[in-house]
Amino acid sequence: MKASEIQALLDEPACSHNTKEKSGCSKPKPGATAGGCSFDGAQIALLPIADVAHIVHGPIACAGSSWDNRGTRSSGVTLYKIGMTTDLSETDVVMGRGEKRLFHAIKQAVDSYAPKAVFVYNTCVTALIGDDVEAVCKAASERVGIPVVPVDAAGFYGTKNLGNRLAGEAMFKYVIGTAEPAPAKPRADGLPTYDVNLIGEYNIAGEFWHVAPLFDELGLRILCTLSGDARFHEVQTMHRAKVNMVVCAKALLNVARKMQETYGQPFFEGSFYGVQDVSNALRDFARLIGDPDLIARTEAVITREEAKAHAALEPWRARLKDKRVLLYTGGVKSWSIVSALQDLGMKVVATGTKKSTEEDKARIRELMGEDTKMIDDGSPKALLSTYHEYRADILIAGGRNLYTALKARIPFLDINQEREFGYAGYAGMSELARQLALSMESPVWTAVRKPAPWAQGVSGAVLTA
Ligand code: SF4
Repeated sequence: MKASEIQALLDEPACSHNTKEKSGCSKPKPGATAGGCSFDGAQIALLPIADVAHIVHGPIACAGSSWDNRGTRSSGVTLYKIGMTTDLSETDVVMGRGEKRLFHAIKQAVDSYAPKAVFVYNTCVTALIGDDVEAVCKAASERVGIPVVPVDAAGFYGTKNLGNRLAGEAMFKYVIGTAEPAPAKPRADGLPTYDVNLIGEYNIAGEFWHVAPLFDELGLRILCTLSGDARFHEVQTMHRAKVNMVVCAKALLNVARKMQETYGQPFFEGSFYGVQDVSNALRDFARLIGDPDLIARTEAVITREEAKAHAALEPWRARLKDKRVLLYTGGVKSWSIVSALQDLGMKVVATGTKKSTEEDKARIRELMGEDTKMIDDGSPKALLSTYHEYRADILIAGGRNLYTALKARIPFLDINQEREFGYAGYAGMSELARQLALSMESPVWTAVRKPAPWAQGVSGAVLTA
């Protein structure tokens, strides 16, 4: 990948801060890849495409650093769960055997698993030694008879976020627009069907299945979700959608912008976290499609679902009202979860913005006010001191902060990709409320905060005469 191509991705014009005098998305700083390298970002963006063989071309440690670290679910085929790598050794590098090994790995993956396509991920080592991954993929594709897609996102190119965009570029360049969708089946109720895409939705813990039935009811056919529970063929047909929704504002925005320029598909950014945001997303689809009947039906569905959601949340609201939250997450979640928590009557005292864009920060200010505390330093020490300073009742953060919270004996909720519960959609809000209440009200906190019996001079042993 040329440096100019990487720079172009870093200056994504669809990011509104790039229209200002000081342009450019966040520049990589030393240590930036500690939160994941570009390869990691590319693989987690594409790994959920379930019927593809994902081969990591490089040393085995690269595959280990990113494989299956997102709790995304598939409704059928699970080929994506099989980690594949060319496992290059020093000898392979010295003897120049990288390209040969890659060719054989592709053949082996196709012979053993009959995937619909193969994705090959470049890594630092193979980029440095100059393996021509694109040429090998082309030759292998001719040999095995299925698409073999190079994903050129070596770790040293930059951050995880850049990797997401590079993955999007690969989909745009090699996959999108290479097949046509099946015609939509006529609906029993005679309503029209509109094709849409979701970009940057990963179906964590199967959470999108909370929302999918509403799309069916409204006649919105999801051609493809890039990439939660996706299939290769679906990605090929994305160019036929009428509207795209960008679910995670930072990753894959470049795909939405290019699809707008190339295929004339309008897009909007939104989220499925929080009652208000789900309703807004459904409204935006109807608005951009522009069918007055769909707009009216969408409003009817929103009214019904909001009433149901508010009724389901009522018992939790009483338990959660006025509880104070320290939220440390990134990107779209830094604001979309804020609005979900505010829906529950909770107060977010501070939010993490390390991986947030300028737009994310603007939305946070809109939701929480100008004097919002935004935290960039995610070190355990900084998190705990903010927690105590702002008298928070719970820390909501990614899984890697779990032990910070447990050691400090404070309630914790995992909000990031490794979590086991789905919080999207109207139904997801009840699950979020339930998990928050269970975590804060757990009797374990009072037990562990008490001084140990020996510290009180009580042995706890029953003495007999
Ligand atoms: S691609 Fe590079 S930075 Fe990323 S895991 Fe592999 S060696 Fe490390």
